[in-house]
Amino acid sequence: MSSPSAGGVPALGQPRDERFAGRHVLSVKQFDRADLERVFRVAHDMKVMVGLVGTTDLLKGKVLANLFYEPSTRTASSFIAAMERLGGSVIAINEVKFSSVSKGETLEDTVRVLESYADLVVLRHPEVGAAARAAAVARKPILNAGDGVGEHPTQALLDLFTIREELGRLDGVELALVGDLRHGRTVHSLARLARWFDIRLRLVSPSSLAMPAEVLDDLREGGVTFTEHRDLDEVLGSVDVLYVTRVQQERFADPADYQAVKGAYVITPAVLERFSPRGIVMHPLPRVDEIDPACDADPRAAYFRQIAMGMYVRMALLALVMGRA
Ligand code: ASP
Repeated sequence: MSSPSAGGVPALGQPRDERFAGRHVLSVKQFDRADLERVFRVAHDMKVMVGLVGTTDLLKGKVLANLFYEPSTRTASSFIAAMERLGGSVIAINEVKFSSVSKGETLEDTVRVLESYADLVVLRHPEVGAAARAAAVARKPILNAGDGVGEHPTQALLDLFTIREELGRLDGVELALVGDLRHGRTVHSLARLARWFDIRLRLVSPSSLAMPAEVLDDLREGGVTFTEHRDLDEVLGSVDVLYVTRVQQERFADPADYQAVKGAYVITPAVLERFSPRGIVMHPLPRVDEIDPACDADPRAAYFRQIAMGMYVRMALLALVMGRA
């Protein structure tokens, strides 16, 4: 059976059964609450299935091209694991320097080549908007696995799924996003999804790493309750989730600017003493020194559990986009 051809991103309000099959996943802006709940339901089923039998043949015969122009451990390997657990196979291009990219091939041409072999393409790229550029020429679905400082939609889905699995709810949650909110694409995507739930955001960063104005505009437009803070202690006692991020060294033009802000917030066991006993600590990883490893044994440290959720959510998306969920 041939895979559905890609027909752009879905418009909000389009019929439910046309919102994933054959579609690109470029930005969290394409999802509404019903879409998110659908992804979470399928991801939960995937979690149960993996726990019971490990694999299925839902995507047997399907091929995923995993095209990564930037380093990745979790996103790249979880897409591979997700596809393989669904019975499909993967063309993995993790080191574009060993591909025709090093001969000067454009992103558009590389995507055209890979989609000739594959049924969908997962793309990570250092430039904002790269996934949309790829989608503009692609006949097969493109899944944005991070475009520079832009978005990381599949990470945001797994982050919300983690909160839902850990706390049993998304409505009523108070969520602190801590660290490099300027360059952290995961927090750009995650913050934008808050509009679909009753989630209050506390944005904690040094002023030089504050959430970009365009994300704040989207929050206001979506009616999200949010406040900005420099001092973590202003919110530590009230939040349910501490979502900690790395200061993104590779995005700084001047190393001195990085040195000035790195280590701005470090979560230690002493900090956690002032945090809710029923809260959770999350991190998209990799961590550098934002979370002291002495916190890892604390039951509230959810960042390693969060990783497994990534595979279930990516399995759900692959199945939905291939029209097989
Ligand atoms: N792994 C995440 C990303 O790709 C977070 C990070 O790199 O700090 O955006």
